[in-house]
Amino acid sequence: MSAPGLHSGESVCPYCGVGCRLWVEAEGSRLIRVKGVPDAAANRGRLCHKGATLWHVVDTPDRLRFPLQRTLGGKFRRISWPKALKLLSGRLRALHEAHGADALAFYGSGQLDTETAYLICKLFKGYLGANNTDSNSRLCMASAAVAYATALGSDGPPTCYEDIAQAETLLVLGSNMAEAHPVAFDLLRQRLREDAGARLIVIDPRRTPTAERAHLHLPLKPGSDLALLNALALLLRPGADRGFIARHASGFEAYEAFLDSLDLEALIKETGLAAEQVRAAAELLRGRRFLTFYCMGANQSREGVAKNLAILNLHLLTGQIGTPGAGPFSLTGQPNAMGGREAGLLAHQLPGYRFVADAGHRGEVEDHWGYPRGSISARPGLTAVEMFRALERGRLKALWIAGTNPAASMPDLHQIKRAFAAAEFVVVQDCYHPTETTLHADLILPAAQWVEKAWTGTNSERMVSYSPRLVEPVGEALPDFEILRRAGAALGAPGFDAATRESVWDEYRLLTAGRPCDQAGISAERLKRVRELQWPCPHEAHPGTLRRYLDRNFPTPDGRARFHPVPARGPLERTDAECPLVLTTGRLAAHWHTRTRTGKVASLNFKAPGPILQIHPLDAQARGIQDGATVVVSNRRGFMRVVAEVTETILPGTVFSTFHWGDLHAPHSNANLLTHAALDPLSKQPEYKFAAVEVVLDTPARMAEDDRALPQAKFPAGWFALGKPRERSTALKPSRA
Ligand code: SF4
Repeated sequence: MSAPGLHSGESVCPYCGVGCRLWVEAEGSRLIRVKGVPDAAANRGRLCHKGATLWHVVDTPDRLRFPLQRTLGGKFRRISWPKALKLLSGRLRALHEAHGADALAFYGSGQLDTETAYLICKLFKGYLGANNTDSNSRLCMASAAVAYATALGSDGPPTCYEDIAQAETLLVLGSNMAEAHPVAFDLLRQRLREDAGARLIVIDPRRTPTAERAHLHLPLKPGSDLALLNALALLLRPGADRGFIARHASGFEAYEAFLDSLDLEALIKETGLAAEQVRAAAELLRGRRFLTFYCMGANQSREGVAKNLAILNLHLLTGQIGTPGAGPFSLTGQPNAMGGREAGLLAHQLPGYRFVADAGHRGEVEDHWGYPRGSISARPGLTAVEMFRALERGRLKALWIAGTNPAASMPDLHQIKRAFAAAEFVVVQDCYHPTETTLHADLILPAAQWVEKAWTGTNSERMVSYSPRLVEPVGEALPDFEILRRAGAALGAPGFDAATRESVWDEYRLLTAGRPCDQAGISAERLKRVRELQWPCPHEAHPGTLRRYLDRNFPTPDGRARFHPVPARGPLERTDAECPLVLTTGRLAAHWHTRTRTGKVASLNFKAPGPILQIHPLDAQARGIQDGATVVVSNRRGFMRVVAEVTETILPGTVFSTFHWGDLHAPHSNANLLTHAALDPLSKQPEYKFAAVEVVLDTPARMAEDDRALPQAKFPAGWFALGKPRERSTALKPSRA
């Protein structure tokens, strides 16, 4: 129960993966202030604007307080929890019986806590036999995860925040840390202030606030990251750490042969950079301890794994890994993207960085769960984008979504709307209603906010943190964990009835014993006491692990890290006469994901009141576009209407927008109306960062024409204007009677 009157306690920020610890003050169940925790490893008292204003977003008018069921008339009506669970379990069971396990899917989130991610995995993969159990981490970190496992033998970064203070060069690629991970970027700025010799290199087509602080900014052409990384490898090869390579790496011969096949001048030309810029970057890396920070700019590409491997190649080539102040450092965008992966919430994984395709791994997990051998399917499930394709085709019948808003955040939103229109049963579990996604639901389940539940998560530096319940959930909202537990019990899954959060955490952490992400020493009771511990932590007396691979022993079969040749394929789309500009996307400092939380904070909205399109003055001038004008950005998938921000911070030929604003808040203004879903073949992560588009000045005549034509021409059947419920054929859906 919430304490009456004034009370306070520690929590963890539910936004980005930096993992800042919060000191939350409340009066009864109402939050009144949020501050940083001074001795927290991640933030040392710091918070960014988003974190510091979190107290606005808990008890809001659009909080979902009760389960809601869509009625035949298309409206939502309140139902009780027992009725909601009966409907949920009845529909899932019926579809399972009629169409098999592969007709069911769960689409989760890096915002779900580890206990919940583990239970989803156990219920769907173990009990129901449905490996279609993925999360939105597929959209942000899948490429990094695959590359880590491929080159180093295990997912998870080897580095930690303390490395920043020891690095001589900080290399940031495909990440606007200053806006997306502000508190971590503060550590970089502190390093630059404290050591005049430390250097910051930023590789980004835009002169972002991160690039503004760089000693060297490389504004490469979008899509040319591999050319640049391979050029850097060629330049660094003469000083390669051959001793390290001989003792700790394999595959170097093939990699050298690959480098020999490359033409340095041609690679540099491909990047659009001057040769001196690339050589200057190589000089700032040569013989120096360097950390590489990267996220969506590297990952969200159909060659995302290759870009990640190219980064890892650089660290192996120079021996800058497994030593303080050096190594690759992927930045997670969500509070528990790491924990979800550790708990197996990806379609090809099982808890403890195990894989469904591995018979030994399946057996270990089945035994731990007490399920018969063969319960878990050997076939990896559908990944995020594949799920929505299968839903549209009717192969998938039921989709349960939790903690994410795919109707605003998936690529090619037109396809997503078609998929929802074709679905037989959609469950959405969220804190708020409406969102762009809850409007497509048959059943909406009210989830507790991060301060309304006890939960565990892992941040970007492998820090596992416990966050206690500080206030009572609003209305009848329940912790995500509790919703899964009750749903599992209603479906008849063994052990779900009596499970508690603590018992599930302890069951999970023991399943990680002996695995690379070993958390066996982080018992629920210990974590409550010490608040945070970094894995690997194999036993209860273990202090946790600040840095991995200090012994240069990698968890591969031969104990060596592995080089990989990484030829470039380039982006799927190419610019042409019809679509001559490249659209790239990203976050703004004031907002996070689809604004379900940040959109409720006045000061954040004041900073970033609406969607924009950054465009270079040359491109703007050629189209008669002035700063502040409304423009239409289009390609063959659709169009969006946004306000132009004419700026020299972006390269000519490139435009930038965001996916923060869904249709509920700014109709037809989401960059994902134009992005496409070409997938990396290994990580199945979509290519958000490169879409060919054209931009034209908007006109009253075009606006009028679009308003008239949109519901019929531009949107698939089933999609209505904003706020109206989905219309689907009830004849096909007997459960809705
Ligand atoms: S940097 Fe990230 S984790 Fe820290 S307060 Fe800001 S949004 Fe939250």
